[in-house]
Amino acid sequence: MSNVIIIGSGIGGLLAGNLLAREGHQVTIFESHKMPGGYTGGFWRKGFYFESGTLSFETSSMVFAAMEDLGLLDQISFTRQHTRWVNKEIDGSMQSYEEFKKMIFSAYPEAIFQLEKYFAEVDKMYYAILPFIKNEKEAFFPKVLSYITAGFKMAGLYRKYSDLTLGEFTERFFDKDSKICRFFKSIGYPNMAAFLLGGAMASIFDDYWTVAKGMQSWADLLSDNFKKLGGELRLNSYVDKILTKNCRAIGVLCNKLVYSADYLIAAGDYKKTFLQLLDDRSAVPAEFLAKVEKAVVSEGIVTAYLGLSLSNAELEKYLKLPHVFYLEDEPGAELLEAEDREYFKRAGINLYAPSLHHPGLAPEGKSSLMIQTIAPTRWMKNWGNGDHELYRRLKAEVLEVLIDKAGELIPKLRDYIEFADLATPLTYEKYTHNTAGATSAWSWNPQKKFYKNFIKSQVETPIKNLYTGSCWSMQIGGVPGAISAAYACAKRIK
Ligand SMILES: Cc1cc2nc3c(=O)[nH]c(=O)nc-3n(C[C@H](O)[C@H](O)[C@H](O)COP(=O)(O)OP(=O)(O)OC[C@H]3O[C@@H](n4cnc5c(N)ncnc54)[C@H](O)[C@@H]3O)c2cc1C
Repeated sequence: MSNVIIIGSGIGGLLAGNLLAREGHQVTIFESHKMPGGYTGGFWRKGFYFESGTLSFETSSMVFAAMEDLGLLDQISFTRQHTRWVNKEIDGSMQSYEEFKKMIFSAYPEAIFQLEKYFAEVDKMYYAILPFIKNEKEAFFPKVLSYITAGFKMAGLYRKYSDLTLGEFTERFFDKDSKICRFFKSIGYPNMAAFLLGGAMASIFDDYWTVAKGMQSWADLLSDNFKKLGGELRLNSYVDKILTKNCRAIGVLCNKLVYSADYLIAAGDYKKTFLQLLDDRSAVPAEFLAKVEKAVVSEGIVTAYLGLSLSNAELEKYLKLPHVFYLEDEPGAELLEAEDREYFKRAGINLYAPSLHHPGLAPEGKSSLMIQTIAPTRWMKNWGNGDHELYRRLKAEVLEVLIDKAGELIPKLRDYIEFADLATPLTYEKYTHNTAGATSAWSWNPQKKFYKNFIKSQVETPIKNLYTGSCWSMQIGGVPGAISAAYACAKRIK
């Protein structure tokens, strides 16, 4: 049995910890925050609960299988998410992709010709990936056959669109400056790879889930189980250095103390693992470090957290569903212009109300609301260039803008606010150490790839016995990236 140290208690670190402790390894997780969970965590303010990172997950078959594998599936409140889509032309709570298409066709009759062409291609992407997403219980042979057929179709589409961004793809069908073009470009990350669009559609309409009692309940369940299996979880324990000897990981330095290990799993940010934590940079090739340094990360996000003196029933009247895409943007916002102070005024927003999933997530008779939008990386010289007063002002400004926008759907919103705060990408970085508040590992732009393969998990590192156990093992990260990393790491540890 081995002595294993895991750095970070996000979903990747927690799952790897559970798998290894179950096998009898001696496992310690070091987590810098006072709570486990990372991006699958949440926090309470004045009796209101908010998500600290993700609001949802897809690839439910993978998530459920992992929880079943640990015997925990029946102890967690996973629930389906459906989404409402709104702008001045559309307003619909969508149950399926075909319903979504119907809504778009009837909202933009003047663009019917372009829409037909656009959806002819998107249909191919969507229906190719659907058999993998749906994971329906079918007889073995029909299932294998549908996977093989779908696999061939996906490979063809991948070849066709592998280097194209979503923006470039969308502009092939619609006038660059049209609202409909901006609308389709805002599905997913800005400039993500076009071939991910089918997966994004299938995820949103067919496989979109959350934890009704909040993501933190998931992290708590995994950390409690980890401890029951004999694992040690050290909170408030930032790892300062990864210690190596002869290019092999041998332990960590935390709060001036050395902890030895046979294996290390770095279950947090990849850039920081190699650019800051590694004790001896000469242990890895200089070209590798240069590549890590240069690599572009996924976009960050800003989130307004509002505690409202509005009942869930009232809030539901306005939102209709807990999750609303309010994509009423204005020209220019898609540019993600780092020095455009007006950017947030033009961008579309997402609204998410945790207490509509579970009333226990807000005080009785009240509700919780989050308002989010993607942020340009290092906006306004990284939110004020270190000037605290300017940072405070920029935060206040953006918070006001987001409240105003949400107020277009929730009349008199300001009158109900009991608590308000804003998280910027700097806040996300502060609490999770993800570079620039990257929301899902590396850039999703096909022209800025770190790994060759977009969806393969790669846990090996140039340091022996040091593995990547976080979403950063996969170009597009996410919960699936973290889960596959955890399994791949556990498999390698003897
Ligand atoms: C707003 C938002 C929306 C998202 N939406 C989705 C979605 O719809 N679907 C999806 O699949 N994914 C989504 N994601 C991404 C997903 O949440 C993450 O990719 C995933 O949860 C990351 O898990 P992880 O275990 O790899 O790392 P993290 O959750 O980042 O956890 C890393 C942990 O390591 C700790 N740590 C780091 N360095 C150190 C150190 N030196 N010492 C000690 N501890 C350290 C951190 O404190 C943190 O707790 C979203 C993320 C955000 C922020």
